[in-house]
Amino acid sequence: MRWILAFLVVLCAARAESDGFARVSQSLSPHVHLVARPVATNAPYEGNSIVIEQTDGLVVVDAGGAPPAGEAIVRQIKAFSAKPVTFLIYTHYHGDHNLGAGAFLKAWPHLTIVSTAATRRAMTGKPMAYIKTYGQDYAGEIEYAKKQAADPALPHEVRQGWQQLVDVGASIVKGYGALTAYPATLTFDDRIEIPDAQMPVEVRFLGKANTDGDAVVWLPAERVLCSGDIVVSPIPYAAASYPGEWIGVLQKLKEFDFAVLVPGHGEPQSDRAYLDKLIAALTTIRAQVTPLARQGLSPEAIVQKIDTEALKATFTGNDPWLRTLFSSFFLTSIVKNATAEALGQPIVQGTS
Ligand SMILES: [Zn+2]
Repeated sequence: MRWILAFLVVLCAARAESDGFARVSQSLSPHVHLVARPVATNAPYEGNSIVIEQTDGLVVVDAGGAPPAGEAIVRQIKAFSAKPVTFLIYTHYHGDHNLGAGAFLKAWPHLTIVSTAATRRAMTGKPMAYIKTYGQDYAGEIEYAKKQAADPALPHEVRQGWQQLVDVGASIVKGYGALTAYPATLTFDDRIEIPDAQMPVEVRFLGKANTDGDAVVWLPAERVLCSGDIVVSPIPYAAASYPGEWIGVLQKLKEFDFAVLVPGHGEPQSDRAYLDKLIAALTTIRAQVTPLARQGLSPEAIVQKIDTEALKATFTGNDPWLRTLFSSFFLTSIVKNATAEALGQPIVQGTS
């Protein structure tokens, strides 16, 4: 009997994950739970959801990035609490944080969705238009991943990384096939509070950073700070970010007396080391990019010219797959954005 069990355990461990929207839960403090992808660096790269227990209901930060993600999160929530979700807060407009909201509205039709006015503007305008063709676009991405996974010229770790995307590919294409955005029904510019005797929730806009409307959620009673994608670990996301203002917002995050910092993606943190790492990365990128941009070099030329080896090593530990992700999620976009910033050009949401 024992060997059969051992065999089954090995079989389950060896079988690749095929549902890209699966979620796991963990408790962060007495009234705060994290519902997240089992491995943050595995595709699809979906944001963390944080569940806050107030006296008569739950407040949730971010809803997952597709209908099946929302359903998985709702199932996890119902497994640890019978209270209804009364408020759903979006940290920003990127779909991986809000396209699961339909499942929340189905389960708790009376909930209020909260975001900054800028996030609502993006969700009702051009930046969110990509969702119409997202499933189809991702099918193309999976075909590309298949070729990369089979390319013998690539390092083993890189092929494995592409293979993981292939393994969950069918579930992603299906999940992103019919997407609906549910913009906030209650917006704010600077701050909004959801009061409660035991777990008051403060939602704040600290400045432009990862997007033009990032909200952070502060839970003073248990000293938990939810940063959205202002902080993403282990590989930051740059997209259409604002490098200079982003540094200022990271410095403001450092001033919160948090016991736990929950990033937009990745593991909860208990100190400021990663915030310092991000500030240092953005500072060195800006310092290198600014003079080259003013000499008239293109972002593509600048990214080849600047020295990013030390940065890649500190963020990736030189893992070949993480280096690939670092280039595509962070480096390309941040150099483009720092170039625009150096030239006084606008950074346009919905681009990366
Ligand atoms: Zn995200």
